[in-house]
Amino acid sequence: MIWIHWFRRDLRLRDNPALYTAAIRSNGHVIPLFILDDAILRAPRTGAARIAFMIDALRDLDASLRARGSRLVVRRGRTLDVIRDLVRETGAAGVAWNRDYTPFARRRDAQVEALLRDLNVETSISEEAVILGPDDVRTGDGRPYAVYTPYWRRWRALVEQRRDELQHELEPPLFRQVSDHDADLAIPDAADLGITLSQHIPPGGETPGNARLASFVDLGAAHSIAGYADGRDLPAEPATSRLSPYLRFGCVAPRAALRAALRLLDRVDDGQNAERTVRSIETWIGELAWRDFYYQIMWHYPHVLQRSFKPQYDALSWENDLALFDAWKKGRTGYPIVDAAMRQLNQEAWMHNRARMIVASFLTKDLLIDWRWGERHFMQQLVDGDHAANNGGWQWSAGTGTDAQPYFRIFNPVSQGQKFDPQGMYVRRYLPELAQVADRYVHAPWTMPPAEQRRCGVVIGRDYPAPIVDHAERRMRALALYRAVSSVAL
Ligand code: FAD
Repeated sequence: MIWIHWFRRDLRLRDNPALYTAAIRSNGHVIPLFILDDAILRAPRTGAARIAFMIDALRDLDASLRARGSRLVVRRGRTLDVIRDLVRETGAAGVAWNRDYTPFARRRDAQVEALLRDLNVETSISEEAVILGPDDVRTGDGRPYAVYTPYWRRWRALVEQRRDELQHELEPPLFRQVSDHDADLAIPDAADLGITLSQHIPPGGETPGNARLASFVDLGAAHSIAGYADGRDLPAEPATSRLSPYLRFGCVAPRAALRAALRLLDRVDDGQNAERTVRSIETWIGELAWRDFYYQIMWHYPHVLQRSFKPQYDALSWENDLALFDAWKKGRTGYPIVDAAMRQLNQEAWMHNRARMIVASFLTKDLLIDWRWGERHFMQQLVDGDHAANNGGWQWSAGTGTDAQPYFRIFNPVSQGQKFDPQGMYVRRYLPELAQVADRYVHAPWTMPPAEQRRCGVVIGRDYPAPIVDHAERRMRALALYRAVSSVAL
């Protein structure tokens, strides 16, 4: 009996519950399928960096499958057509996949389920893209949480309760030979899909993902999780895991990341740095919980992908100035911390979390541009672009979402730079034109007297832009804009 495992955003063999089920049900006669569907490849929010990373991950998956006597079956077309054809060709008795949570995926998966029902083919759906599913974490009266802190408390308690189950690791299953079919494709190159990538991205796949996780939880490594709590807010430091694209594509299972952190917690002894290490591990586990939190928000409140979580903020009258938006995208706003962050995005398809918060605040509260413009731009650029986390991050920063920072707390781009990049290392890394600017001016170079500008070879307005808006003035304008709609909210 043959089963198809439909890979989507779970590009790994280890710890893959749906793949495991397919292997058990078919006694190893699994067809590992990946579908290149133009509905996704050509979607306006799909970015080149993510496609390139995904292709790497497919190659890695194929190599691991071949090492086990199988291979990845890649087809291109409409998902429903591909699945119908493959089921008919192979006489498959079942199709297994892991749940996805976006409204698009939910609609598509419901159609596939209906099709398979008509064809009399079994389905098996598992949950793996999150640690605890959207319906697992509920308030006392059974409602989903809309605020992170109580969610986190409940989530952490449930993790403890389910520790044995979560500790359980699924080995890659055994496979039997898959026969060839005319419709199978070789894994395409990015160029075959019309992708030209100008950003420098990390290698995709389960193998590099596991290596990254292993080095992050190795307390002997130069940049391990031990320094996370102290270093995570400093964008110049390599203090965070940089696992986000691997989690996004399921090259690393979120539960495997949690498991590694829990194991480490058990091993921390009473040595000198124990308190710092424990604090770091718990803080990092908290970030994995943020990820689950935003998934359950998207699941229970799918309107957030179009509109504000809090409806009164849909009435905000954004200015949406195209020239200002363009300057923000290019990293030419004249505010170094914002520009460095946007250039990091342009060069690496990734941005540090603190920097994401700063540029999102700047776009919405200084440039008065709709958060959805920023959200879409991020989705197009980020190698870890994830509908739930990105939407949550944008709505948090814009003050329109769950648990958002209150609208009157507006980031000052100069003091954020001074606080989180005190020596200007991050800024100088991405803005080489500011390399010679003295520390005291590096976050506000327009305050340099003309002689100082000449000394360090940066004439403001010529070599580096003057600020495109005046923060103090825009702050007042933003406050007025938000106040006009938020009386209902307060
Ligand atoms: P670490 O600090 O090592 O955290 C470990 C993992 O936890 C991350 O890989 C990520 O999966 C998860 N995580 C961490 N912080 C958050 C968070 N605030 N919300 C949800 N999950 C989190 N993250 C994405 O994965 N994709 C996005 O598209 C995305 N867009 C964002 C947009 C904005 C405006 C903001 C403010 C944040 C966004 N984030 C997004 C969250 C966060 O910035 C990234 O997850 C993080 O920077 C990734 O780096 P890391 O892997 O080194 O994280």
